Amino acid sequence: MLRSKMLINGQMVDSATGMTSIIHNPANQEPVAEVSVGGREDARLALEAAQKAFPVWSGMTASERSRALHQAAGLVRQRAEDIGRLLTLEQGKPLKDARREVLASADVLDYYAEEGQRNFGEWISTSSRQVRSLVIRQPIGVAALITPWNFPVDLLSWKVGPALAAGCTVVAKPPSLAPLAATAFMQAVNDGIGCPGAVNVVHGPGDLVGAELVESPISRKIAFTGETGTGRWIMEHAARHIKRISLELGGQSPFIVCKDADLDKAVAACVQRAFSNMGQICISVNRIYVDRDIAEDFTSRFVERTLKLKVGDGLCPGVDLGPMFSEAQRQKTKDHIADALDKGAKLLAGGREPEGEEYSRGFFFLPTVLSEVNHSMKVMHEETFGPVAPIMKFQSLDEALRLANDTQYGLAAYIYTGSLSTAINAAERLEAGGIGVNVNNVMDHQAPFGGWKQSGLGRELSHYGLEEYLEIKHIRISL
Ligand code: NDP
Repeated sequence: MLRSKMLINGQMVDSATGMTSIIHNPANQEPVAEVSVGGREDARLALEAAQKAFPVWSGMTASERSRALHQAAGLVRQRAEDIGRLLTLEQGKPLKDARREVLASADVLDYYAEEGQRNFGEWISTSSRQVRSLVIRQPIGVAALITPWNFPVDLLSWKVGPALAAGCTVVAKPPSLAPLAATAFMQAVNDGIGCPGAVNVVHGPGDLVGAELVESPISRKIAFTGETGTGRWIMEHAARHIKRISLELGGQSPFIVCKDADLDKAVAACVQRAFSNMGQICISVNRIYVDRDIAEDFTSRFVERTLKLKVGDGLCPGVDLGPMFSEAQRQKTKDHIADALDKGAKLLAGGREPEGEEYSRGFFFLPTVLSEVNHSMKVMHEETFGPVAPIMKFQSLDEALRLANDTQYGLAAYIYTGSLSTAINAAERLEAGGIGVNVNNVMDHQAPFGGWKQSGLGRELSHYGLEEYLEIKHIRISL
């Protein structure tokens, strides 16, 4: 069996207590690897290593760091096949998606290798002829990076890329149940940048390792992706040291289909964004609002396309959807479907586990389509984080926008329409950090990603992502 250790001060190490746990494959519950499990002491050692490395890493020029990050990206690409396989084994997603996630993470490192060289200052006008004001941006210090299991590599790269480019050193805490690919990715980054202690990884429970990273006076910045409840806890505890935080939290994304939309494109995009990664994506489509004039046509095409999706072990070629990550996720999905059916929803597809021996030991579930839904149902206001697509009709754009905004979340929203004015009107009125107009993805390395309302604080990706790791300093000079 594979053995995954922690990365502290450039070395792969066991935890202080020697504790380990076994990671299981969600497709068949077979053991995949034995992992070192750390605690508060290990988190402290990692923070101290990052603190020690900070003057070295931040003392390098931006172009030296750029070269190091490009080197790291190259190593991630060289190891992408192995890292991707680990990701499928621990998380369940199809191998082609896992491979894509790892390669996208290498692209993020390359992007920030360049963006880090554009850390500009300012020369600001003053109220006196005898005084000059300079403004520079400097790295915050040690950053703690805490990430979830649904995209454990990608979401880490969104943090480690800008942090290192800015000159920060980092301690990462991957998700306890899926730490393998993230650790292998960080190992490649460590090998690529050649600065021991600049990147560290500690495994272990969120309420011990994560809590230590948040509470320690050494970490000056917390970058977190995960549930809104955990984000709230982190915000409260980071407040004790007035730490900089960025929080990428839950979502409940609406997808509006107007009657002038290209229906073929809308159906294909909506099915893909509702069920990809088994709906375990923060920007998954959670609620579909369709103009009543086209609702029947849209719904029948949506169901037809859904039924063609192939569910199976992510290592088998041709599979569209792997298992769900855990029994807990599957159970939550079933609860939400049962709640909707109890309240009058109609089941059009799925709603159960697939039948057959090959599915008997994994957390498989069929992509599910519901109609006749309303906002009293959990699927319409809680984050299911599962493969469920509820479809609701609307009569006017005003009604669709009111329904779309009727949520505590505000991460992503999508609209499909043939009218530019409808698109712009809707995009301006939708309350979310990312709006997809005739496109089902709001992520792009060059553009900011983040949430409104209880979906989070701060932005990742783009130059906004870099700013999250920089402090502003005003230097006032008398002549
Ligand atoms: P969790 O919030 O449960 O866990 C995320 C990470 O936080 C894990 O590493 C976890 O450790 C750690 N953690 C848990 N408790 C604490 C604590 N008290 N202090 C510090 N760290 C802690 O989220 P999930 O892993 O369940 O991920 C799913 C969630 O992530 C969904 O709500 C989803 O919407 C959200 N998400 C948001 C995205 C965005 O960009 N907005 C993108 C992707 C996902 P451990 O594993 O040990 O519990």
